[in-house]
Amino acid sequence: MTDLRKDLLLNRWVLVAENRSERPNDYATPPATTKEGLPQDPTNCPFCPSLETQTPPAVYSACNAEGDWQVRVVPNKYPAVGTAMGGDKSGVHEVVIESPRHIQNTADLTPKELANVLEAYNARLEHWYEDGRFGYAMIFKNVHSMAGASLVHLHSQIMVLPEVPPACLQELYQLDRFRQEHDQCALCERIARERNDSVRLVLDRDGYVAICPYVSMHAYETWLLPVDHGRWFPPTANRVSTETLAGVLWEVLSRIERLLPGVGYNMIVRIAPWSAQRTDYHPRIEIYPRIDMFAGFELGTSIHINQVSPEFAAQKLRAMEPHRSCGT
Ligand SMILES: [Zn+2]
Ligand SMILES: [Zn+2]
Repeated sequence: MTDLRKDLLLNRWVLVAENRSERPNDYATPPATTKEGLPQDPTNCPFCPSLETQTPPAVYSACNAEGDWQVRVVPNKYPAVGTAMGGDKSGVHEVVIESPRHIQNTADLTPKELANVLEAYNARLEHWYEDGRFGYAMIFKNVHSMAGASLVHLHSQIMVLPEVPPACLQELYQLDRFRQEHDQCALCERIARERNDSVRLVLDRDGYVAICPYVSMHAYETWLLPVDHGRWFPPTANRVSTETLAGVLWEVLSRIERLLPGVGYNMIVRIAPWSAQRTDYHPRIEIYPRIDMFAGFELGTSIHINQVSPEFAAQKLRAMEPHRSCGT
């Protein structure tokens, strides 16, 4: 079955081509990825304790009762954006070191530890929002080298920009159009449909849903959204409840990491653009496992081929029991 699916809201066209999975390299079952292991020597890892001098000084750290840091945020030593020659900021690029342990997967954290990471996001976003010079912020995480990670040790990155990027402006424009035509938020409408239909639902609890979107660009793509509107992260007075979100996010990532052992993935946290003053923005976390290739067809047409239907992906993820974690 080949199915061309279009998402006009997000400007995505995707060919869901499950028949291609009958080729010898079968992506419809979890890929037998070679585990990268931890090739980088922990005794030489700049994100491990005792080598803190190899990173710029911390701008944030959360410590345990013994005074040892548990989460540490440092300016990126090799920033993609930064202070320009004239002294104006072209942006901010910070690294969130998520654990003092030399671990690679999010499920190796406890949900409580993941809540501490989200608390660090809160604090840094609040700081840069208050700074006043910036219009937009996003958080992303690359896990494993196949997803772009250059260091093994679990970390995420905060990117703060003076302006809202074009793709995000385009999305805001489409969301506005939808609201004018239908008098409601397009993502709220989608959540209602997915809950009703449930074939692409991965989980639904504690005010959050995780779904494999109908027009998924990548195999096992998963989105986590709050059911109710409201903004995550600063500048809202209602800071995100990190414990609740961490519990749900941990479960989603744990299911993905267990279903696709050793797979690389990108995680993107989308929050309301600051400069757009959008109280109606529907925030979300997008997770993109990287088991398929962006090849010539995609480059030539911008149409992605996804060899695992979101319906199949959601079924597999629903069936996956997250492993139990200590300390929860
Ligand atoms: Zn390390
Ligand atoms: Zn909404």
